[in-house]
Amino acid sequence: YTQAKALVYPKNGPIPEVLNLHTHSISPPHSNLLTLRTISAPLNPADINQIQGTYPTAPPFTTNLGTPTPHAVPGNEACFEVLSAGTNAKSVKKGDWVIPRATGLGTWRTHLQCEEDKVVRVEKEGLDSKQVATVNVNPVTAWRMLKDFGIKEGEWFIQNGANSGVGRAAIQFGRMWGLKSIAVVRGRPGEEGEKLRKELEELGADKVISDEELMEKSFKDRVKEWTGRDSISLGLNCVGGDAAMAMAKVLNTGAHMVTYGAMSKSPMRVGASMLIFKDIKFDGFWVSRWADQHPEKKKITVESILQLIRENKFKDVPMVEVPWNWDTKKEDLVEAIQGTLEGYRKGKGIFVF
Ligand code: NDP
Repeated sequence: YTQAKALVYPKNGPIPEVLNLHTHSISPPHSNLLTLRTISAPLNPADINQIQGTYPTAPPFTTNLGTPTPHAVPGNEACFEVLSAGTNAKSVKKGDWVIPRATGLGTWRTHLQCEEDKVVRVEKEGLDSKQVATVNVNPVTAWRMLKDFGIKEGEWFIQNGANSGVGRAAIQFGRMWGLKSIAVVRGRPGEEGEKLRKELEELGADKVISDEELMEKSFKDRVKEWTGRDSISLGLNCVGGDAAMAMAKVLNTGAHMVTYGAMSKSPMRVGASMLIFKDIKFDGFWVSRWADQHPEKKKITVESILQLIRENKFKDVPMVEVPWNWDTKKEDLVEAIQGTLEGYRKGKGIFVF
C-alpha cells in the first residue's frame, strides 16, 4: 500500500475555508491502473478559479479517496513518475514520466491512482520535471493562437500580459516563426521595469512597452513608425478592460483580437466602428475545448514543444518552488495557492515533491 496525501475540497468557496489536506492509502494497481508519484505540479490561475467556483468546468466530486462526503482534488497539470502498473497497462512502465491527457485529473496530491488512458507518456530524456509539468496549458495556448488566427510570417502581433506564462511562450514561438511582436506589460518602478523589458526582449519581443505607454495618444504613431502603416495582424488579450481596447485600436482592418484571459476582471467596451468599419474579429480561445476537439493535434503540439525545450530553444517561465513533503502543513500550501492570483509576482508557483 502507498500512503498518500491530497488537497481536497467538498464545495466551492474561499480557499482557506474549503481546502483540506487528506491522508489516504492506495492499494496496488490491478488491470489497467497505474500508481503515480507526483514530481511537480504548477499552480495556474484557472486552478484557483475552479476552487472558488468561477470557472466553467469542475473536477469530479467523489468519495474515492475515502472522504466521508464527495470531495474534489484541485490542479490540472503535473509531471508524474510511474511507481507501479497493473498487468494490463501497456503504454508505460515503472519509472516512466507521464502528464495528464486532459484537464480535471486533480494533480495537487503526492500520489494518484488512475487508468492508463488518463495520462500520456513523455520521453523524459533532456527534460526536467518542471518543464514537463507546465507544457500542457500555457505553451500550447500560445502555439495555437499564433497558428490558428491567420497571422503570416513577417507580420506583427501585439499582446498584453506579455510576461505571463502564455505571453512568454507567444514571444518565443513568434520569434521562431518569423513574426514580430509588441509586448505590453504592467509598468514597474525603476530598475524592475527595465529588467523585465530586457528579459522579454531577450526572449524575442521586438518592442516592450508598459500599459501606460499603450494608453498614450501618441501610441498609434509609434506603432506606425515601428511597423509601417496598418500592419498589426493579431492581438492576444490576457487582461481585458480599456487597456485591451487600446490594443484593438492599433490592429489592421479585418484582424483578429483573441481573448484568452481576463486578469483585470474588467469587461471590454467595443465601439461600433471597430466592428463595422475595421471589421475586427473578436474571438475567444480556450485550450481545454481545443484539446478535446483535436486530441491528435494536441499530442503533436505537446511533443513539438518538448522537443524545442530539449534543444534549448524554449525558455521556461520563472517559477517559484513550493516544497511539499510528508510533513508540510496545509497552511503552507494554502498560502502559496492564495498568492497565485496576486499581481507582480516573481514567478509561477509550482509544487515540488
Ligand atoms: P501567469 O500567472 O503566468 O501570469 C499572470 C499574468 O497576469 C501576468 O502577466 C500578470 O502581470 C497579469 N496580471 C495579474 N493580475 C493582473 C491584473 N489585475 N491586471 C492586469 N494583469 C494582471 O498566468 P498564465 O499565463 O498561466 O495565465 C494568464 C491568463 O491566461 C489567466 O487568466 C489564465 O486563466 C489564462 N489562460 C487561459 C487559457 C485558455 O485556454 N484560454 C490557457 C492558459 C491560461 P503582472 O506581472 O504585471 O502582475
